[in-house]
Amino acid sequence: MSKIVLSGIGKSFGSTQVLRGIDLTVEAGEFVTLVGPSGCGKSTLLRILAGLEAADAGEVTIGDRDVTRMRPADRNLAMVFQSYALYPHLTVAENMMTPLKLRDLGLAGRLPFVGPIFARAEHLRLRKQVHRTAATLKIEALLDRKPGQLSGGQRQRAALGRAMVRNPVAFLMDEPLSNLDAALRVHMRAELSELHRRLQTTFVYVTHDQAEALTMSDQMAVMMNGEILQYGRPAHVYAAPASLEVAKFVGSPAINVLPGEINGTGDLSVMGKTLIPDTRLARQPVSVGVRPEHMTLDPDGPFKGVIRHRENLGSDIFLHAQVDGLDKPVILRSHPRLLAGTGLAEEVTFSALADEVHVFGADGLRQHVAKPSLVEVG
Ligand code: ADP
Ligand code: MG
Repeated sequence: MSKIVLSGIGKSFGSTQVLRGIDLTVEAGEFVTLVGPSGCGKSTLLRILAGLEAADAGEVTIGDRDVTRMRPADRNLAMVFQSYALYPHLTVAENMMTPLKLRDLGLAGRLPFVGPIFARAEHLRLRKQVHRTAATLKIEALLDRKPGQLSGGQRQRAALGRAMVRNPVAFLMDEPLSNLDAALRVHMRAELSELHRRLQTTFVYVTHDQAEALTMSDQMAVMMNGEILQYGRPAHVYAAPASLEVAKFVGSPAINVLPGEINGTGDLSVMGKTLIPDTRLARQPVSVGVRPEHMTLDPDGPFKGVIRHRENLGSDIFLHAQVDGLDKPVILRSHPRLLAGTGLAEEVTFSALADEVHVFGADGLRQHVAKPSLVEVG
């Protein structure tokens, strides 16, 4: 278990700057997720951490060792990719043995057939280690199967097993669940979290899926365009996004962004209706973010829209309301039971919870809003 520090990491491919001075500290034993849209530089950063790619600038330290110029093999990190890269002609057990053999056995001990005779005690020890790891992952029953005889989830577990046997100081995972179907992905999220709790090893996990970041990580780094825009606990990033870009990226369905204004006395209005008086902010146009769960149907609410789409998920229902003057529908979350009577093309009125709105300035950055008292909107 080791702390990982990336400092000032820069990287360009040709004239394209892919990483712009990334600073990131992963505390020992933490589950940290790098999350951001495709192409933002997540994999490149992970590969630099692993030593598979050289940075143009910056340093990587693991524990208290500067590993910037160290070969991948000497960093003792385990890497798990989206494509499992298991050897198809070897059984799961043999797949898991391979990295151990490479590390622990001499040339003679690695020979097929005679190797186990030359290095009998070593082979027994390695086999025990494979079984112990298989037990942790609950894949003992699969050890004699070949990858072709496994389901996607089982293959993913075998690949994890192969990464785990060496007792790495940290696990690096690059979109490891992307090839799985939706139900299995959700199941594997829980399994990875549980595995992390049991191993208490540092995990650095890359994904473009904000739901994975929110559900699994201790800390998440939201990356865009080669930079970390926000680093923090998932609940905090969700509840207090540092910028409009982060607010729009994290959360599904996405946050509603409404045009707003701070007037000369500091009152915040949205689409002409006062939402929060006396915010202490200077007069300016602002973007106001309101998550769907903070928009509520309210007969006395200040906003009006026409229902254009109902997205019924069983537990929740999302209403897409077209509002005059906005090019995107406003999305409200409600409960199917409450909406039995609401149909398409119907007009609804709604309000936004004043305590839960996010205000962003012209630069896209979050503005601190003084909320002297919770005001009823209307
Ligand atoms: P992500 O994993 O976030 O999707 P990557 O780190 O894979 O993003 O890539 C970041 C950017 O760097 C992309 O624009 C990609 O095209 C570019 N890139 C990645 N690897 C190479 C490479 N070996 N040569 C040239 N460009 C690359
Ligand atoms: Mg990638």
